[in-house]
Amino acid sequence: MAQTIKRVLVTGGAGFLGSHLCDRLVAAGHDVICLDNFFTSQKSNVAHLLQKPNFELIRHDITHDIWLEVDEIYNLACPAAPGHYQYNPIKTMKTSVLGAIHVLGMAKRCRAKVLQASTSEVYGDPEVHPQPESYRGNVNPIGTRACYDEGKRAAETLFFDYWRHNRVNIRVIRIFNTYGPRMHPYDGRVVSNFIRQAIQGAPITIFGQGNHTRSFCYVDDLIDGMIRMMNGPDDFVGPVNIGNPHEFTIKQLAEMIIELTGSPSKIDFRPLPSDDPTQRQPDITLARQKLGWEPRTALREGLLKTIEYFRSIKLEHFRAPTPNF
Ligand code: NAD
Ligand code: UDP
Repeated sequence: MAQTIKRVLVTGGAGFLGSHLCDRLVAAGHDVICLDNFFTSQKSNVAHLLQKPNFELIRHDITHDIWLEVDEIYNLACPAAPGHYQYNPIKTMKTSVLGAIHVLGMAKRCRAKVLQASTSEVYGDPEVHPQPESYRGNVNPIGTRACYDEGKRAAETLFFDYWRHNRVNIRVIRIFNTYGPRMHPYDGRVVSNFIRQAIQGAPITIFGQGNHTRSFCYVDDLIDGMIRMMNGPDDFVGPVNIGNPHEFTIKQLAEMIIELTGSPSKIDFRPLPSDDPTQRQPDITLARQKLGWEPRTALREGLLKTIEYFRSIKLEHFRAPTPNF
């Protein structure tokens, strides 16, 4: 049976995850609108799509309303790396909350389906391990990460209230650390930092002792889970964890990247930032049961592809964020 062509809006569509999502939706033949204010991304991420007749790029800030006619919305607009979201924390909170209100209002008016890219950060520094969706989290509401964590929690609340009160057709996924080509080389996230440092032969900066953990999901697997959730049954709205349950210490990650790049870099231990979660691993039982989804890419394999990307770009074309004094 021929597939129905949908008009799909991707907010934050020029970012790391958004650009991969646009690739997949354009390739599937949908009419894709990519909306972005380029706060943490650059046009080069979607330059290859600009000539496609089913791709449109709009420079817009989602904290302001916008009227479009669409069938589906993926709401990804929000700075995601700690250095980026802490640069202007008030703006980060506005982007999550006002952005959610604007896409939910649009979904209500257009009777569109809308998916929220939420985060494992809603669990804060978790006291339950691994984290199932039923865990309510341990977030410091006045800490340096709160602008992001609490903004995303408020956005989830808005999604569920629009669902309960206005019958908006929602989906909520909680994304765990994801990596891959098109990560911003200066976003300060651990995978991009370590690969850039290793390629440059610079010290690999481990914050703390390196025994805290994260679980890293390759971008292709993540996008697959996101699209499955959007296309899944209307009675499963989430929230659902999408991430890779294989957990690694930050030191193991550093050692693997040094090995895979053949780098002479040495490890440099630095102080751990405040409120940095000590462990994080998704319980993906629900995603397996409801979506038939699980990640397929091993860390080593995904890192090799990411290293290849970082070797292919010109670092001088990317700006480090302006320091926030
Ligand atoms: P990213 O920074 O590469 O992408 C975010 C995009 O949103 C950028 O293109 C940025 O310019 C845009 N943006 C920011 N503020 C905006 C605004 N006010 N109006 C319009 N556009 C705006 O980050 P990413 O890793 O691609 O993350 C995408 C989404 O997934 C985010 O919502 C993030 O919270 C969520 N997420 C990502 C991860 C991860 O590991 N990558 C983990 C959890 C959640
Ligand atoms: N981290 C690190 N060195 C770096 C960047 C990050 O040791 O150069 C640590 C960071 O303190 C955190 C983990 O790596 O414990 C993951 O950090 P990231 O910013 O990638 O994501 P998040 O903390 O949001 O999971």
